[in-house]
Amino acid sequence: MLNSNDHHDTRTAADHAVSTPSESARLFERARRVLPGGVSRNTLLYGGPVHYARHGEGCRVTDADGVERLDFSNNVAANIHGHACQPVIRAVREQLRHGSAFSMATEAEIKLAELLCDRACGFERIHFVNSGTEAVMAGLKAARAFTGRTMIAKVEGSYHGSYDFAEVSQAPTPNNWGDAACPRSVPLARGTPAGVADETLVLPFNDAETSTTILDEFNNKIACILVDPLPHRIGMIPAAAQFLQALRNWASANGAILMFDEVMTFRNGFGGMQSDLDVVPDLTALGKIIGGSFPVGALTGRAEVMEVFVRGDAGMRLPMTGTFSANPVTMTAGFVALSLFDEASVRRLNDLGDLARANLAGTIALTDVPACVTGAGSLLRFHFKPAEPRSYREAYAATAEKQALGAFIGAMYDHGIMLIHTGSAALSTPMDGQSVDRLCEATLASLKSIRPLLKIGA
Ligand code: PMP
Repeated sequence: MLNSNDHHDTRTAADHAVSTPSESARLFERARRVLPGGVSRNTLLYGGPVHYARHGEGCRVTDADGVERLDFSNNVAANIHGHACQPVIRAVREQLRHGSAFSMATEAEIKLAELLCDRACGFERIHFVNSGTEAVMAGLKAARAFTGRTMIAKVEGSYHGSYDFAEVSQAPTPNNWGDAACPRSVPLARGTPAGVADETLVLPFNDAETSTTILDEFNNKIACILVDPLPHRIGMIPAAAQFLQALRNWASANGAILMFDEVMTFRNGFGGMQSDLDVVPDLTALGKIIGGSFPVGALTGRAEVMEVFVRGDAGMRLPMTGTFSANPVTMTAGFVALSLFDEASVRRLNDLGDLARANLAGTIALTDVPACVTGAGSLLRFHFKPAEPRSYREAYAATAEKQALGAFIGAMYDHGIMLIHTGSAALSTPMDGQSVDRLCEATLASLKSIRPLLKIGA
């Protein structure tokens, strides 16, 4: 664990770039003997050894070698207040004194449920689970239990966690994605049963007309349409209001459930991105920031649909439980973290996101590197493309772009900025205009340093 001297021993990322072998490299070697690939989360892999954290405070993280960086990953957008948020620590410490897990309910669960249900008109009831993956799975199963149908529809390239059906066409390639007007359902993991892809329809992002044509063919079989209003893996391109409205209309007209995945995007509005849309989904999957940096997921939505979880005379339509679901530590941390993330705080962070995207576009324009930035609210993403992509297929990175992105993420790391492994960034409330300046300075230096790799002007 950290002792106070560790703070004084921090080095700059540039010092670290020349000092190998590092403590992280040593730890990674050790990890590879006991963990497949050395890691339990693929998203920690940036190409080289995994980076090990020693200490985090506010928007800064110090790694195992004592190097401090600005954290623009924030546990893949989950840490809304950065690290070691003092009010959360105080509340969690108090909860721990009373116990951390019971086979009884706690008031902490009701408090977080009340707080969340007050934040969006579509959040009438809420069911807590332990991860975003579980929240999406619960939503798809709830939709099936409610409609009595089996098929789901999702958007090509969108990431919704690791449930088999939600994984379909998460990462298709030009070799297997098929015709744009009728995208193929491509299973992600080897060994996925054929029935999984057969039961999952794939829709082209932001193409309302083609999507409704595809849906029409299966009109009485679709239980759920699953969509993320700002799908990260598609390229962090906002879903068009008209696209979401078309999906809403189709679901309502055909007795299907519309589910939003706001696991990542809930941070972008007081009640998620849906607060600023005219479309109200039947269900919403939540996760990340709602647990105050502890493991969490939740399914929320219309009371009538959420009734599938209720035990009645004829049993439950959707029996579902979890040993650690709604554990009081997570519920307490989530309550404090979200209480602090009030409307003014959401607005301030979104404004900072606007500033970051605008200044980064200006920074990129100072170079001749074909790059751009997408995103919304407190989320943004770099692409090595001259213009903003509009779909998964446009955002798809060819080998040279992937290499450029990998080198850029590494260069940013060496310049003291930690990004998400996809080249995305998530802001946290301890950040300010200076953090954005640092991000832009590191971007300029990193773009210059990887320029030879891009063979510009060669
Ligand atoms: N949906 C989205 C949009 C996500 O970004 C994520 C996590 N990155 C998930 C679902 C899965 O959440 P978890 O990692 O908590 O299972």
